[in-house]
Amino acid sequence: MGYADPHRINADLHSHSHMSDGVLTPAALVERAVANGVQMLALTDHDEVSGLAAAQARADELELRFICGVEISITFAQKTVHIVGLNIDPSNAVLLKGLSATRGGRAVRAQTMAQGLAQHLSKDAAASAALSHPDLPLSGTQLGDAIYAGALRYVGNPDLISRTHLARYLVERKLCKQLSDVFLRYLTPNKPGYVETSWASLTEAVSWIRQAGGQAVIAHPGRYRFNETERIALYEAFKDLGGEGLEVMTASHTREQYTEFAKVAKQYGFLASRGSDFHGPEESRVDVGETALLPLLPDSVVPIWHNW
Ligand code: AMP
Ligand code: MN
Ligand code: MN
Ligand code: MN
Repeated sequence: MGYADPHRINADLHSHSHMSDGVLTPAALVERAVANGVQMLALTDHDEVSGLAAAQARADELELRFICGVEISITFAQKTVHIVGLNIDPSNAVLLKGLSATRGGRAVRAQTMAQGLAQHLSKDAAASAALSHPDLPLSGTQLGDAIYAGALRYVGNPDLISRTHLARYLVERKLCKQLSDVFLRYLTPNKPGYVETSWASLTEAVSWIRQAGGQAVIAHPGRYRFNETERIALYEAFKDLGGEGLEVMTASHTREQYTEFAKVAKQYGFLASRGSDFHGPEESRVDVGETALLPLLPDSVVPIWHNW
């Protein structure tokens, strides 16, 4: 098809609904995108495609160009990396089987995280009271069960509980002021609520996406704490596997990183993507399709949608 100038299009190709750890329903997300002037939207829930049909239906009603997407959790060089798939066929059996396996361990993982938090917080009377019943503070595994139950109240899809849902409960109970504080204090490596997870491999994720007819994109590359050797290994392995895109514009990048990753895209011949990674109105710094904080792609890169 092609566009007169694909760089001028407000494409937001990374966003979440409550089918993973977003706050809005797929339909409400689409409505918000339209209100914000988005011209092309991808819903990319974590390891899950069950929100796509409802989002597509609402987008059709509102005449918004909608792209079926997914964000797959993988482990590369012992760290978690996210791979976005764009223009996937959400009914592809290989993709569905892979995503279902990826989601599989999440309930037990979250229960273990809740127990880790409980063990740590049992020593803190005020925290235990806040997380259970004020007049009957729990401790030990009962406190862990209460934390897990609290997190479940934020879950929109019983098949997908994430660290975000635990974090929302801790903010609600005033243990931390905001989500990022919970991650910093409790839910990242070497912190009491963190559980080491082995996700799918890079090879698997890219292959599922490609078999479903989609294009694979490395999400928010600025977020990974890799050394230079590992970083290069990721880009090269991804490229060799048929990975095509790199997120240049994402809410977790600084202005300097917009420039840095535009250069990386050019260097490796990756197509560039842009996405807010919007999770919810009260939580996300960058709104879906917001151009003030998340500029359109620079002319130096080729937008991944240039030939869609
Ligand atoms: P999980 O897939 O369960 O490991 O949860 C990962 C999700 O946690 C990410 O997709 C983000 O939405 C959220 N997250 C990770 N780090 C942070 C942070 N520092 N502040 C807020 N949310 C975060
Ligand atoms: Mn998320
Ligand atoms: Mn991500
Ligand atoms: Mn995301």
